[in-house]
Formats: sequence, structure tokens, C-alpha cells
Amino acid sequence: MKFAAPGEKETVEIENACGRYLAEPLMADHDVPAFDRSPYDGFALRAEDTISLSSSNPGRFEVIGQIGAGSVFTGTVGPTQAVRIMTGAQIPEGSNAVIMLELTKEIGSSIEIKRSLSVGENISFKGEDTQKGTVLAERGTRINAGIAALLATFGYKNVPVARKPIVGVLATGSELLDIDEPIQPGKIRNSNTYMLMGQIERAGGKPIYLGKMEDNLEECYKAVAEAMGKVDILITTGGVSVGDYDYLPAIYEKLGAEVLFNKIGMRPGSVTTVAQSNGKLLFGLSGNPSACYVGFELFVRPVMRTNLFNTRPHLRKARARLASDFSKANPFTRFVRGTLQYDEDGTLAVAPSGFDKSSAVSSLASADVLIVLPGGTRGYQEGMLVDILLLEDQTGSEWPWENIVASYK
Ligand code: AMP
Ligand code: MG
Repeated sequence: MKFAAPGEKETVEIENACGRYLAEPLMADHDVPAFDRSPYDGFALRAEDTISLSSSNPGRFEVIGQIGAGSVFTGTVGPTQAVRIMTGAQIPEGSNAVIMLELTKEIGSSIEIKRSLSVGENISFKGEDTQKGTVLAERGTRINAGIAALLATFGYKNVPVARKPIVGVLATGSELLDIDEPIQPGKIRNSNTYMLMGQIERAGGKPIYLGKMEDNLEECYKAVAEAMGKVDILITTGGVSVGDYDYLPAIYEKLGAEVLFNKIGMRPGSVTTVAQSNGKLLFGLSGNPSACYVGFELFVRPVMRTNLFNTRPHLRKARARLASDFSKANPFTRFVRGTLQYDEDGTLAVAPSGFDKSSAVSSLASADVLIVLPGGTRGYQEGMLVDILLLEDQTGSEWPWENIVASYK
């Protein structure tokens, strides 16, 4: 995270702002509403003229004008006078209450009213929604439909947003086929690239497809060195372990990159490696799809969200009941791909999404959380409360790990 800096600002038109991240706090520069207005179609009048009115003692009001939303009544409402007013129109001077159209009877150019109103009844007051000077969204907030409404309310035709971090994805492995190639003996299609591109987009970045490479030191080195000039962050998959054709460690060395760490006490993704070269981060993720997926969410995403000015860049943590046993003990903390269930009694339950091996690809499709199972000598039983990390959430956490680390120790 030391190498994760807040990114750069650019502006986009409001039409293209949804899904981007605010580069500046969104502040109200005027009250909303900006004037007292009517929330209903009705008649604006003086509450004091209605004090004694009831069904047995109706009162008459002379209608002296009529305004729709957007129009302003130029006169002043006097005793037992009313102005016909539509939803959203400014409350006329002199009046201090609105009676709904449905509660009045029109008699010629007058109306009859059979109830009393209090001062301020049925008025939407200036500033009742939000007051000038209020911060409505912090810098780094993802722009959703509601924020788009606020941006428009405050006149942002152009919206200051964080430039999307450009994240390159380079797959390595001599077994990899392009996805339009027929299956061949001993070969597999390159699925990690497309999975990561989806994850990069979900995290708010711009994925750059850099193709796939055979396990060949010289060629991989050249591809990595060239890619570094084009991206903010480089992700490679595969070749980062200790196998005969795992060339990433040698590539980092040849690049003069500083390896920040190359083993993590977690499952899957223990071979996740991170290096830096001139302040740019290189993530060497496992080739195993589930390990690659988890490595991205736990290590790449927080860096990207920080680039997007977000101060809660980690996956949001919540708790849920385990919906099934997870009995295999493991000395390392596990991040099990899980699916949330919204039970009828109002509780959250979570179950592993399916086949749980670091090589699994099928369980990723329905995963919307990572279930965090701290390492230890015992397994986990159905009904236990466990930590989960939400994959589709946009709120995030500052640093969700304190409890997890404590329970791990
Ligand atoms: P590696 O990290 O290179 O040791 O690869 C670990 C496992 O992941 C091997 O079974 C690889 O075949 C598989 N793998 C590597 N790269 C990919 C990829 N791009 N897509 C799907 N599987 C991969
Ligand atoms: Mg490999």
C-alpha cells in the first residue's frame, strides 16, 4: 500500500460519469430546495384565516391567481385570499400554508375549505433537503445514479473524476491456448486474462490486454519490460512459483525490480508475488484461476481503489452464518469463494460456491463473497459466524484485517 498513491484527476461529461470515482468532494453550493415550494397541487393561503374552519363552519377564499411549477406569483396573498399552485411552484408572498386540491371545493372564482391549517403546513422549506455547504459525497466515492442526480442538481456538466488506472494483464504458460483455438492434448484455454479484465473493470480500472506468452525467459522478459512503459500496474499470471519453467522471479531480477514479498500465508494464492520497479507495481499472480482471483481482490484492488482517491479501498467486511460444514483444517487462513444466501428469517448465510481448489474455475461464477476462515487445527461447522468479504460491494473497508489477524494468532 506504500506504493499506492492517489491518482490523477480528469473531467468527464456527466453522461459518462456513472461508475467513475469523484476526484473532489461533492459540495452543495446552494440550498435544496432553493426556495420554499409546494409539495402538492393545491391552494396557497394564510393559515391564520383557517383557524376556526371545520365541516360545520366552512370558509370561502377568493382565488387571486394561478401558478405552475417554474412560475412565480408576483402579488401578495392577503386575508381570505388564495393562489392556485401546482407541485414545485414557489410559495407566494403572504401565504404560509398549502391545502391540497382534493380538500377544496371550487365555487365560481372562490374555493370552500372545511378544515384548519397550521403555519407551514404542506410547504417544502428552502434547504430542507440539503443545506448550502454540506459535503454530499467524499472524494473517491463511486458515482451511482443518486450521485449523478446530485451532480446535476449542482450544475456539474463536467465532473472531476479519477483517471482510471491502466492495468495490463499478461498471461504466461506454454499450455495456454487463445480462446478461439480448438482444445488440444495437454493444453488449456487462457481464462485468467478475461477473468482479470472483469475484475479490473469492477475495481474501477482500465484493463489492457497484453496476450499470452510461452514460458520462455527472454521473450517474457521483453514483454514485461515493454508492458511497463504502457501501464500503471502490471499483472502477470502464472510462472511465479518454484517450478522448472517459472520465470517470473528471474524476470524481476533482470528488470532490477525490488520484490516486496513472494509468499503469503494464505490459501489459495500463497505464491502471490509483488515487486516494484521505479514505483510501479508488478503483481505476479498464480496461474491457478481461484488463486489468481483471490490474489487480485486482496492485493491489486486496494491499490487501484487508492489510485481512485478512495479511502476505503479494501473489500468490505461483514459477518454471516456458515450454511454448511467446512471441516478440513488448514494451518493457513483460507479465502473460500462463497455465495450469499438471504434467509427468510432475515439473516445472512454463506456457503462455499462449489469445487474448492486453487485450480477451480467453476466456483468463481457464482461467488459474491470470500469466506475468511482463519487457519488453525479445527474445521468450521454449519451455523458458525464467519467473516466474509463482499466482492460486489462499492462501500469498502479501511482495513478489515484486525480481527482476522487476531484470530489467526
Ligand atoms: P503456474 O502458476 O504457472 O504454475 O500455473 C498453475 C496452474 O494454473 C497450471 O495448472 C496452469 O495450467 C494454470 N494456468 C496458468 N495460466 C492460466 C491461465 N491464463 N488460464 C487458466 N489457467 C491457467
Ligand atoms: Mg506455468
